[in-house]
Amino acid sequence: MTTTLAWRRRYLLAGLAGWAGWAAWLAAALPLALAAEPPPDDGKLRIICFGAHPDDCEIQAGGVALMWAAKGHRVKFVSVTNGDIGHWREAGGPLAKRRKTEVEAAAKILGITTEVLDIHDGELLPTLENRRTITRLIRDWNADVVMGPRPNDYHPDHRYTGVLVQDAAYMVTVPFFCPDVPCLKKNPVFMYFPDSFQKPNPFQPDVAVAVDSVIEKKLDALDTLESQFYEGGANGSAALIPADPAKQQERRRQMRERFANRSKALAGRFRAQLADWYGKEQGERVLYAEAFEVCEYGQRPDKAALKKLFPFFGE
Ligand SMILES: [Zn+2]
Repeated sequence: MTTTLAWRRRYLLAGLAGWAGWAAWLAAALPLALAAEPPPDDGKLRIICFGAHPDDCEIQAGGVALMWAAKGHRVKFVSVTNGDIGHWREAGGPLAKRRKTEVEAAAKILGITTEVLDIHDGELLPTLENRRTITRLIRDWNADVVMGPRPNDYHPDHRYTGVLVQDAAYMVTVPFFCPDVPCLKKNPVFMYFPDSFQKPNPFQPDVAVAVDSVIEKKLDALDTLESQFYEGGANGSAALIPADPAKQQERRRQMRERFANRSKALAGRFRAQLADWYGKEQGERVLYAEAFEVCEYGQRPDKAALKKLFPFFGE
């Protein structure tokens, strides 16, 4: 009898300790759950861009991100790898940390949110686990627009980022795929960044956006990615970094010019699409551009729907 009572008491105490444990767990988990809440449904657009490395989204969509953010729309850049082999002098954890700090500084200038996934640079694979990760991120952001590279690209991480983002299209709407995160009610519009690869098919832009009004700010954002541009990234060398402050200034100027020229080349290459979106006269005057192609696996917007997603025309 005594033994039974003692056991009962022990169970009761264990039960109380259990509840205390749950309460502590809840208290710890609640802020996390709140932090993971998608942005409120307030009529603002929600855009999520995936790049393979901590600099890809900034190069491809930095201008349009600035323009969306300036209108109060919500933009998130995700680097699918941590960039930990993207330098000629350093690698591993310290480089991953440095590159995360760099994209955070860029995000501050752009007025957007940024995240770097902890997957090794150069080792990304289109696994089921990674497909789930991308799906969850798109759902968490409650995205209207999802951007990423095309799966034909010189870099395996770019290719597989493209595959992973494509694989998440449609699946983001399937309730029992990743049931731990509520599915999206409608398939977002998925879009590709431009590239110059011709085989098996070249990039064909559906939208071309003039980024002239934000080009200096975009270049400021790219300037924060020092390890990649100023120092030359994986294929750089010590010879690129001059000791003389005047020469350092010159090197920075060259980097700005390189990216300004990249945007200029896109404006030249997609002049017909710029004329289509802005009218011939205004389209001719555009100096700097970014362009995007609709992926067939997401929602397929017509021109009127695209105008709502890119509210920059006729300004
Ligand atoms: Zn890259």
